[in-house]
Amino acid sequence: MTSRPHGPIVVLCGGVGGSRLMRGLANVVSHDRLIAIINTADDEWFHGLYVSPDPDIVTYALAGEVDEERGWGLRGDTFRWLESLRRFGHETWFNIGDRDLATHLHRTRLMREGVPMTAIISDIARAFGVDVRLLPMTNDRVRTVVETEAGDQPFQEFLVKNHARDRVRAVRFEGAHEASPAPGVLEAIREAQAIIIAPSNPIASIGPILALNDVADALAVSTAARAAVSPIVGGASLQPPAAEMMVGLGHAVDVTGVAEIYRGFIDTLLIDGADAARAPLIEEMGIRPIVTNTIMRDDASRTALARRLLDALSVTTDA
Ligand code: GDP
Ligand code: CA
Repeated sequence: MTSRPHGPIVVLCGGVGGSRLMRGLANVVSHDRLIAIINTADDEWFHGLYVSPDPDIVTYALAGEVDEERGWGLRGDTFRWLESLRRFGHETWFNIGDRDLATHLHRTRLMREGVPMTAIISDIARAFGVDVRLLPMTNDRVRTVVETEAGDQPFQEFLVKNHARDRVRAVRFEGAHEASPAPGVLEAIREAQAIIIAPSNPIASIGPILALNDVADALAVSTAARAAVSPIVGGASLQPPAAEMMVGLGHAVDVTGVAEIYRGFIDTLLIDGADAARAPLIEEMGIRPIVTNTIMRDDASRTALARRLLDALSVTTDA
């Protein structure tokens, strides 16, 4: 393992699980050492507004403003504009709070002015006082479409409108082949001291990042210390639709299924104590298992997991 003591700690992540780990990491290392590469394939237009859930959750979590119960949205937000919109007969199944609305208005306005997503995400982060470098996975449009037995469904429709109830047959990332990783993404991976795959949905959150040109190759040949935290705990996902998608694509919904998806991209997998019995199976797959508490219910557990993870990667902490 080549160590690059000055290289960044690079985290591939989605929304809820990703943002919790980012918060833990930000508690223990200087922010200028951290770079998040965030999924944007479940972005969607609603009511003329461009909504980018995963970058927003990560931003809100790092700002300490995320609604911890839900895992998304701003704490204490209200939904009056959405309730008012219902009067006109519009579909309001996608929840956007009143304060959250301002973020989407701002983002959409910048997009209309031709500002690339990289600059928009850092502008929103700056406005929330977040100094960790947040990168969208791409500045191009990539769209997750879930192929179900009831037909093709855009990701948010599958998850939020239909509650992930239709059996998944396949998942495709429209536009991924033509898309380029955002400026800074490949550089971050190449220069990384450590690469972390957050406990995010392996199919819908990490899948689109891996599907971008050159990203999987860069990860596969990286000599950085590489680890993932399993989002599957005790044979289940803490929230839909990771399990539904893994089943649909023929993966076991347990830590071996996660290891199978990430094989070649990680050397170490952190699994929960609830899955300790499966550690030998992970080892047989050529991945070093580390058993620890992976549930991040509060700041103390997030911080403890971040420390355990960095320790496993031989990365020194700053706090
Ligand atoms: P999304 O974009 O909001 O779907 O969020 P992510 O893709 O980042 O995370 C979803 C996954 O995170 C689910 O499979 C959850 O099981 C997992 N997850 C959420 N919170 C935690 C946690 O505290 N610990 C672990 N190990 N996984 C978590
Ligand atoms: Ca997401």
